[in-house]
Amino acid sequence: MAPLNILIVGLGIAGPSLASLLLLDPTQAAEEKPQITILERSSELRSTGQSVDVRGVGVDVIRRLGLETAIRASTTGEEGVQFVDESNAIWAQMAADKSGKVQTGTSDIEILRGRLASIIYERSKVISAEVQAKGGKGIEYIFGGVLDQLEQDEKSVRVRFAKSGERRSFDVVVGADGLASMTRRQAFGAEDEEKRMYRLPLYGAAFSIPKGKNDVEWRRWFNAPGRRGVMVRPTHDPEMWSAAMFVIDAADKDKRLLDVAHEGARTVERQKSLMKEKFEGAGWECTRLLEAMETTEDFYYSTIAQVRMKKWSQRRVVLLGDAGYCASPISGMGTTLALTGAYNLAGSLLRNPNNLNAAFAQYETLMRPVVNKAQDFTITGPMMMNPDTWWGIWMRNALVWFICWSGLAMLMFKVAGPKADKVGGLTDFALEKLPEWNGWRELWKPKDPKYL
Ligand SMILES: Cc1cc2nc3c(=O)[nH]c(=O)nc-3n(C[C@H](O)[C@H](O)[C@H](O)COP(=O)(O)OP(=O)(O)OC[C@H]3O[C@@H](n4cnc5c(N)ncnc54)[C@H](O)[C@@H]3O)c2cc1C
Repeated sequence: MAPLNILIVGLGIAGPSLASLLLLDPTQAAEEKPQITILERSSELRSTGQSVDVRGVGVDVIRRLGLETAIRASTTGEEGVQFVDESNAIWAQMAADKSGKVQTGTSDIEILRGRLASIIYERSKVISAEVQAKGGKGIEYIFGGVLDQLEQDEKSVRVRFAKSGERRSFDVVVGADGLASMTRRQAFGAEDEEKRMYRLPLYGAAFSIPKGKNDVEWRRWFNAPGRRGVMVRPTHDPEMWSAAMFVIDAADKDKRLLDVAHEGARTVERQKSLMKEKFEGAGWECTRLLEAMETTEDFYYSTIAQVRMKKWSQRRVVLLGDAGYCASPISGMGTTLALTGAYNLAGSLLRNPNNLNAAFAQYETLMRPVVNKAQDFTITGPMMMNPDTWWGIWMRNALVWFICWSGLAMLMFKVAGPKADKVGGLTDFALEKLPEWNGWRELWKPKDPKYL
């Protein structure tokens, strides 16, 4: 039987992880391994984005790819969270649990999304080159393109590349194209799109800023009335920090917060000016942050939403990562879901190459409990943590002071923290476990001297 011919749409976190894992079946000779194409909308790898977490089973997946050292050496080194007031006085601090045993707000692996995407992409290129050297097809990367047609029947999925007009046919198409997935709309219908989106009324921007005099290796969290929150966090670069500014609009008073997100990156200037309007005069270091926002190179604005679907496959098309089950940045689980999903989808396809229905059923069975746990929260927690009035903020600060001082914080995280440790381990698909990859050392210098 010919090897599976698979198109992956999206070169984010999930897409290249899946491509690599699909090439790790030790029972397949190189020429039997799947033939993989990855299509990315951007003209190059999108190496932007702020801090994301890798937790629990996600760490097991990066270990399988031989990426644990590369990733740990590229983390931001965030020590934990400090709650600060207008004068930058620290009311309370919650340290990260560096053992990874208790999932607190700061995971033991906090890494900038762009750096993580680069590591996974570079690794996939090496794995692909090794397969190609032995006579396999490996991975073909296509940048700067989207699909404008997708049709399928029992035998294949036929697609058209929008820019070139080229038509190709695949056995499987994987939509790994993020929260606003076009593949999802093409395969599952655009009409139900709003029903699939479970919107949390939280909107925010994240961007890099030059290190300021008060910036430390801790995440500093400040609140202003009107449920406005600001976080300043370290990155892997000793000269750059990252800022996140967000607003909760539970009463849906300001439609512009959603409108500017819908129009996407085309409206970056409108997104920035809205953030400026919201945070001008908010106190603390907001003036400095807003000034830095004007010239930042990696501004990213997003609504916070979850994608909730009963099924993630439609005949020969299957969704992966945020495209199928975005849990939102608040969950702290988006990247872990993307990695775990890539592993489970790769294993299910490799173990059922002649039966896509069985492969997708296995993938869905394995992922459903993980996704349900990651998506299981409401806006109530973020509303309590980002109060509406100065008095509410004072009360919140006093409360976090008490729970940190009394030691209740760790207990609370054990019960109600990110659900990474409550989803079991990885299924054993007998995939190859790769040795640690050292190629990253030629690409960047670690901030933590222990990795030099
Ligand atoms: C630029 C960017 C910045 C982000 N910043 C943060 C952050 O600061 N904090 C956070 O928690 N999460 C952030 N995220 C989301 C985070 O990466 C995901 O929640 C998570 O890692 C799951 O990854 P994913 O691979 O499923 O999706 P993503 O990482 O979103 O990757 C999707 C990929 O698909 C590409 N794509 C989209 N549409 C198409 C199309 N039609 N055709 C081809 N390719 C397409 C995108 O360019 C992207 O490369 C960001 C995502 C992006 C794209």
